Amino acid sequence: MARFYVLLGPPGAGKGTQAKVIAEKYGLVHISSGDLFRENLKNQTELGKLAQGFMTRGELVPDDVTIAMVRDRISRPDCKKGALLDGFPRTPAQADALSVMLKEFNSKVELVPLIDVPTQELIERLSGRWTCRAQGHVFHEKFNPPKKAGICDEDGSELYQREDDKKATVENRIKVYTEQTAPLIEYYSSRKILVKIDGTKSIGDVSKELLAAIEKA
Ligand code: AMP
Repeated sequence: MARFYVLLGPPGAGKGTQAKVIAEKYGLVHISSGDLFRENLKNQTELGKLAQGFMTRGELVPDDVTIAMVRDRISRPDCKKGALLDGFPRTPAQADALSVMLKEFNSKVELVPLIDVPTQELIERLSGRWTCRAQGHVFHEKFNPPKKAGICDEDGSELYQREDDKKATVENRIKVYTEQTAPLIEYYSSRKILVKIDGTKSIGDVSKELLAAIEKA
């Protein structure tokens, strides 16, 4: 049966970084809804144009649009073995829709690791974050600096600061998380598939904890 995992956590918790590690280890597809929106924005698709305003303000793109985009991605053949979802679901309505779409594939969400980081730390993390233009590899000027400033260690492409990693937007993204996404902690906890991971540790230690939780599930 296909294995689907949902990485939950506030913006800046390290979901993207960890998702890449886990996806590689288990040969799973990494689906980041934020990356899908950014790709659409870059290519100026209708979807990208629609999402742009919400993203710049740090708000959520409406559920129907987001759900359709993820459903389309999950339906592709490369997800037959499963996928690691990063940034989706972000509302209870999205979580319900995910469960319905996975049922269609005779599957379900196996485990929901919650990468937990206190709010004060998130602001510092996000505002020092640099993202690789080519593939979205993430660095931090203080906690995880690239070998050469402004250049991605992995693929040599340019690093840039995401528009929504600027301070005012960061604060709004955290508020939106608390109000709209944090209810998913109880949602998945009551379904007995949530596991809390201490996201304040080093990247390597968080990976170890995550992999151990997945092995145990
Ligand atoms: P991220 O890279 O996950 O922080 O996502 C960047 C932005 O894309 C978010 O601030 C939202 O505007 C939008 N976005 C990403 N995923 C979702 C989602 N599941 N639901 C609604 N909006 C989303």
